[in-house]
Amino acid sequence: MQERIEEFDAVVVGAGLSGLYMLHELRGQGLSVRVYEAGDGVGGTWFWNRYPGARCDVESMEYSYSFSPELEQEWEWTEKYPTQPEILRYIEHVADRFDLRRDVVLQTRVESAVFDEENGRWTVATEGGERVSAQFCIMATGCLSTSKTPEIPGLETFQGRWYHTGHWPHEGVDFTGLRVGVVGTGSSGIQSIPLIAEQAEHLTVFQRTPNFAMPAGNRPLDPAQQADLKARYPEHRQAARESGFGIPVPLPTQSALEVDAAERDRAYQAGWDKGSLVSILLSYTDTIVDKAANDTAAEFVRNKIREMVHDPETAEALCPNDHPFGTKRPCLDTNYFATFNRPNVDLVDVRRTPLQEITPTGLRTSDREYAFDALVFATGFDAMTGALTSIDIRGRDGVRLKERWAEGPRAYLGLGVAGFPNLFTITGPGSPSVLSNMMVSIEQHVEWISECVAFLRERGHSTIEATEDAQDAWVQHVQDAGNMTLYPTANSWYMGANVEGKPRVFMPYIGGVGVYRQKCDDVAAKGYEGFALA
Ligand code: FAD
Repeated sequence: MQERIEEFDAVVVGAGLSGLYMLHELRGQGLSVRVYEAGDGVGGTWFWNRYPGARCDVESMEYSYSFSPELEQEWEWTEKYPTQPEILRYIEHVADRFDLRRDVVLQTRVESAVFDEENGRWTVATEGGERVSAQFCIMATGCLSTSKTPEIPGLETFQGRWYHTGHWPHEGVDFTGLRVGVVGTGSSGIQSIPLIAEQAEHLTVFQRTPNFAMPAGNRPLDPAQQADLKARYPEHRQAARESGFGIPVPLPTQSALEVDAAERDRAYQAGWDKGSLVSILLSYTDTIVDKAANDTAAEFVRNKIREMVHDPETAEALCPNDHPFGTKRPCLDTNYFATFNRPNVDLVDVRRTPLQEITPTGLRTSDREYAFDALVFATGFDAMTGALTSIDIRGRDGVRLKERWAEGPRAYLGLGVAGFPNLFTITGPGSPSVLSNMMVSIEQHVEWISECVAFLRERGHSTIEATEDAQDAWVQHVQDAGNMTLYPTANSWYMGANVEGKPRVFMPYIGGVGVYRQKCDDVAAKGYEGFALA
């Protein structure tokens, strides 16, 4: 006898900002939706990353949903850059305000999603053995949700406590009086190190790659400024949608090499003082495409580091010199570099003395052993593809997504994959995604998918599937766009370089969120050009 399983119009995997909005949109069309979330609360990134100093580096009033004018008017942000607790409160408010929780099943990890060619539906199975069937399967699994523990042997022998920034204990961690080792100096390390240093008796930071960071200049939000932006929200949001990175800023008109050093320094200083991810990057037209132009920005930031860090050797070790400025996601910091002036903080450059082993009492590098009471791994994520390839996703002919993507991800517009009908990925590889204010990209994808589903239902189509030709052409375009820039020259997580054995492919689309949105809209306007409808 065949097993009877519950049927839905759509299953959404993940209940972060993407999954919750997807649920809201599909429910608005009258679809039955089931959302599965591995965590025991909604919020995704902002549910998991509770490390000290966790904060958004896009301004709060821009890193928020724009789909509901009432929501955007009623919510009051307190700081320029919101903390993790504040963003989580916001997401929880959204879940309650739009009554989303009743369709979200928490603490439930999806293990597999298998397309059944006979009935054109997906069977989604959870780790606990639950199986449901749905016409549409939407992966809202996040680009930075599969944390990566360090590839150093011996973790199981360590007798102290250890933490990954991406899975921080809800009750927080008190490092008072402890000897702490932090491994990793990417965004999470840069945010957490100053605060851990204030508590710990001694902190040792193990750095493989120094990163560019600029002062966030965080501050409480002035109510008058907030009211002013709220009055102009529709135009501001539209400008974000049409911009390059999802943040509306005036575009540069000059090359960095057209102006003299004094003028360049004034422009970079203004960007530095602004405390924004994109100000220095967008000071000149060619920062991200021309190495000589980029060097001028990189050297400006390195000189700032040299000014801030008293010990010249430590300062030099903290200066990024193996990748052009901006080709790894730049960071915003609060007192990061000055933290290395504290007497209780040391820096270990693991390029010079590689980490060899985690021991019962600490860490061993090639030249000595360090004793710790606690270890913190700020070692990042298997970005963009990790959450997708860790689910057993099988499309036509039982082909596994993981195998399809063995040489690097291939998707049409980062939204659909040839051979995987009715499967959508939100902010998938091949879309601007992590190269943008992700709220803008998430809303665009969710709305596009929602309109696509409505179209299919109105026209009586049962499936939509990217064609191989359209996918090949898009993948090529994404690569070509990447190759026009300096991005592929960095060993970044954009390139998969932080995960051993991961193919080196520049995964996001650098064409800009405005250009990309136009492309997606054109595809839809032409009856979903590049997709086969059945
Ligand atoms: P997520 O928030 O990652 O949610 C995905 C959810 O899917 C997770 O809760 C996960 O548990 C769940 N999931 C995954 N696989 C499964 C499975 N198999 N079964 C069930 N559930 C599953 N973006 C910006 O634009 N600006 C920033 O400043 C910024 N700062 C960031 C700081 C940190 C520390 C991190 C980690 C990310 C940051 N990001 C930032 C990116 C951030 O991930 C996105 O902005 C956004 O939160 C992504 O939302 P999402 O819903 O797409 O994915």
